[in-house]
This record gives sequence, C-alpha cells and structure tokens, in this order.
Amino acid sequence: MSKVEDKKVVFIHYTLTNDEGEVLDKSEGDDPLFYLHGYDNIVPGLERELTGMEVGDKKKVTVAPEDGYGEIAGPGEQEFGLDAFPPDVNLEPGMDFHAQLEDGAFITFWVTRVTDTAVFMDTNHPLAGSTLHFDVEVTRIRDAVPVEIDHGHPHGPEGDVAHHH
Ligand code: ZN
Repeated sequence: MSKVEDKKVVFIHYTLTNDEGEVLDKSEGDDPLFYLHGYDNIVPGLERELTGMEVGDKKKVTVAPEDGYGEIAGPGEQEFGLDAFPPDVNLEPGMDFHAQLEDGAFITFWVTRVTDTAVFMDTNHPLAGSTLHFDVEVTRIRDAVPVEIDHGHPHGPEGDVAHHH
C-alpha cells in the first residue's frame, strides 16, 4: 500500500481551526485538496506530519507558527493608492499580490483593508502568528508525473492538465 512520501501527489480532506476552536477553512463539501509532497506546497508542519500516512488514515496535527505561516514580522500594515491596482480587480481582504524588489526577490503582500481611497496591505500572511489545528484524512495517493516534479506542483487531479507558466 502506498504511503505519503516525496514525489507523491497526496489528496486530503481537512478542517483547519484556531486555538479558540473556530473553523478557519475546510475542504468538506468540496473536492479534496491535493498537493505534491516534498515541494513546500503546504505548510511545513503539516507536510511533515503527513509523511508515512496511508489512504484512509486520519490525524490531528497542531502546527506552531514557525512551522505554519510564520511569526508576525515586518513593518505591519502599509497604505497603497487605489491607482496602484488594475481597475478590473475586485479588491478584498485576504487577496495576495506579488511585488518584485530591487534585488529581484519577490515579496507577497496580503490585503488587510480596502477603503474608498486606499488599500492597506501587510507582508504577514493572515494566519501569521497563529497556531494551526488540522484534522486531516488522506483520501488518495498517486505517483507524480515527471513534469509535475519538474514544476514542483500537481497538474490537476490526474496530472494531465496542460498549462503554461
Ligand atoms: Zn506546472
């Protein structure tokens, strides 16, 4: 029986709750989440705990911030003019944008608030600083196809979805 290990595409159902027991995200009612194991597709603390699991296995996993979306850091919320965004984008809290720094590195900003005149964004993931509680069940494991390993992510549930990068 195959186990979760590097270069497998792993399908999971999950419920994510915070310390207060509030449900932040869940796959119930949707198709399972799938990802390529060993390629940083999901938070490291969860990926590590899934290693070795088999189809049908369930587990409760607690992930500390440093193994999740990181500790809260940086300058905090920053203000941007609405004209910095394409006019056809419907700006909402939680959306992420990527900006390239002068040294070529990419940085991600998450929208925290939108007003009539400005957009506020933060470099912290919305769940930075949070301990994450996952209830996970492995529902399927398949071998990755070579192009998925090249790209470091799955190409659809069956690995046959063509796309451009
Ligand atoms: Zn790809």
